[in-house]
Amino acid sequence: MPQRYAVIGNPIEHSRSPLIHEAFARQLGIDLSYEKLWAPIDGFEEAVTAFRENGGRGMNVTVPFKLEAFDLAGRHSARAERALAANTLVFPASAEEPVYADNTDGVGLVNDLRFHGLKLEGKRVLILGAGGATRGVLAPLLEQQPQEILIANRNPDRAYGLVEEFSDATGECRLHGCPLAGIEDSLFDLVINATPASLTAQLPPLPDALIGARTVAYDMAYGAEPTVFMQWAEERGARHSLDGLGMLVEQAAESFSLWHGQRPDTAPVRDLLREDIRLSAEAAESD
Ligand code: NDP
Repeated sequence: MPQRYAVIGNPIEHSRSPLIHEAFARQLGIDLSYEKLWAPIDGFEEAVTAFRENGGRGMNVTVPFKLEAFDLAGRHSARAERALAANTLVFPASAEEPVYADNTDGVGLVNDLRFHGLKLEGKRVLILGAGGATRGVLAPLLEQQPQEILIANRNPDRAYGLVEEFSDATGECRLHGCPLAGIEDSLFDLVINATPASLTAQLPPLPDALIGARTVAYDMAYGAEPTVFMQWAEERGARHSLDGLGMLVEQAAESFSLWHGQRPDTAPVRDLLREDIRLSAEAAESD
């Protein structure tokens, strides 16, 4: 019998997690099934319980259930505690044992940046957006000891709130916030777009001075083409512009390691996913 896993969300049809986990499993000779599970907005806990009772061993959790996933678990990793949100659940074999929750989004981003050769120590980092994704990546980013992290958000109070919440984890890093429309004119080493703006081809209002020859522009969104944010940064001479595909694969690798105790090679799976997205876009165009 294959081990049973799933990704749960609403919506869920777009998820590429099954492709990624099945590719990891083939690589390491693990027999698993990995399905997409849609749950009604008010039916997360019921859906998780039913999946577990039917032999489910673990789950990835996506929008909008990450906070509920954290609340449902009886044990948490330190990074899930920090984010108050979980994207990975582990179901112990004994029904008496509590569900364990982890959050692998942040380490996924850090591992992707590492994959691309970017070290954050002593660097200036700007994050656009102060939602769940920013909350999840802040602690792992702070652990890399950048010189500064500025969080800029449309609603600045959410940025200030995160600054306050993570004030005990900053070490030597200057963590501060500002309104999205009020970012200072200065050069950053890494600019992360953690808003969903690119998904609707929108570009937040950004000063040109953010980008220079040493800047890496990172969009958490991804698609068949470079996003509007990536294009904007490239036109201003950024060193690299990256999308969030690598983060997606790396967070999945971390969940996979937690479930199976073995770490997959992410490089071929990045290529596979890139090709799958390209083919889907081609098919959609010819419809
Ligand atoms: P949330 O809904 O929790 O937060 C969205 C944030 O973006 C808020 O701060 C919001 O500002 C801001 N925002 C929304 N729309 C706009 C806009 N048009 N212009 C400027 N700011 C905007 O989303 P998440 O944090 O969960 O996700 C953010 C993005 O990151 C999504 O695109 C998601 O798909 C991606 N992501 C990618 C991952 C990966 O593995 N590649 C993993 C996790 C997330 P305000 O507070 O003012 O409303």
